[in-house]
Amino acid sequence: MKVKCPTCGKSVVWTPEQRWRPFCSERCKLIDLGEWAAERHAIPGEPAPVPDARDDERD
Ligand SMILES: [Zn+2]
Repeated sequence: MKVKCPTCGKSVVWTPEQRWRPFCSERCKLIDLGEWAAERHAIPGEPAPVPDARDDERD
């Protein structure tokens, strides 16, 4: 049995070994989840705090 990856449309063989099914890969799964999350969290929020990047010292 084959399915098409919802993200890229590539044919994916549906097997127990294919852990990312129906996606062809982890990447496609994460992309899809990311788009879903982006839609869900489309509310403008506070900008993420940027840690002070002064940890610049080298030995
Ligand atoms: Zn894919």
